[in-house]
Amino acid sequence: MDAHLRPLMFSGRISSVKAYAIHLFARLAALMNKMNPDCTFCKIVAGTSPATILYHDEQVTAFRDLHPVAPTHILIVPNKHIESVNELEPADEVTVGHIFSVSRMLAEHEGIDSSGYRIINNTGVHGGQTVFHMHFHLIGGQRMKHPMG
Ligand code: 5GP
Ligand code: ZN
Repeated sequence: MDAHLRPLMFSGRISSVKAYAIHLFARLAALMNKMNPDCTFCKIVAGTSPATILYHDEQVTAFRDLHPVAPTHILIVPNKHIESVNELEPADEVTVGHIFSVSRMLAEHEGIDSSGYRIINNTGVHGGQTVFHMHFHLIGGQRMKHPMG
């Protein structure tokens, strides 16, 4: 695993002083300027709403879905409030790429990398989006159903 992808925090336990500093910095950044105070996921990123946080760094946060549809169901979100894919800006491309790297790392950590998994983003009403802070579902641990849509 690349050093920059090494998980800083698993199962809510902060693993090092550096991780704690990054964690505090991300919380502060969220609180200072990039947070929507009415957004459920911003509150989770900021630590003001509870969630089972699996991974956290300066760009993204991953936590277990409140209503899992499979043995593994993790949400990976940018720390910055972005409503949906429709609101992505060119500067966000690095974060979106990072979300996929973190998803892969989490799939390994969950032991579902070789059995396979789905990464899903829902955008807008027809896409089935219910929380308007862009997020990616990492779902696995059982065979996924087909067809989609
Ligand atoms: P969407 O339908 O927007 O793609 O997915 C939203 C997901 O967020 C759903 O799977 C839902 O279960 C999850 N969710 C909604 N509210 C919360 C919450 O407060 N905490 C957590 N951990 N997950 C949530
Ligand atoms: Zn938000």
